[in-house]
Formats: sequence, C-alpha cells, structure tokens
Amino acid sequence: MITYTLICDKDHEFSEQFDNYDDCMAKLKAKKMKCPTCGSKKLEKGLSAPSVGGQAQPDFPTCPAAAGCGNGGCALKG
Ligand SMILES: [Zn+2]
Repeated sequence: MITYTLICDKDHEFSEQFDNYDDCMAKLKAKKMKCPTCGSKKLEKGLSAPSVGGQAQPDFPTCPAAAGCGNGGCALKG
C-alpha cells in the first residue's frame, strides 16, 4: 500500500491509500474518488514532497536586456 496526497480543484488536500502508482492514476482517471471536504471529483495527485510556497522571485530588478546590457552605467543588475 502507498499513501498519496490528492488535491481537488478547490485546493483541498487529503490522503488516500492505493495499491501502487498505477492504481492511483486509474482511480483518478475513473473519477472514483471525491474530495471529502467539498465533494469535488476533479482531483489531482499532489506532490510527494511538501510544497514550499510559490516560485522564488528575485527581489532586485533585472536589466530588461536579456543577457545584460553591458553598460557600466546601467543601474540594474543584469
Ligand atoms: Zn475540495
């Protein structure tokens, strides 16, 4: 048995046990399960690793020139 985290289209997470990965995917495809919170059947398998927020964004402005403008006077980091 293996436990996977499932996520519905309303972002509710819950865990379900499956025989294996294929069993999980088959049941997702057949829509045999539903979210225990809202009853939605639009489920996706969550990531096995815990998610850590969104994507990291640089907190400094970058020069719009893709490879850097090469201008020493440019105030933005390339
Ligand atoms: Zn839900």
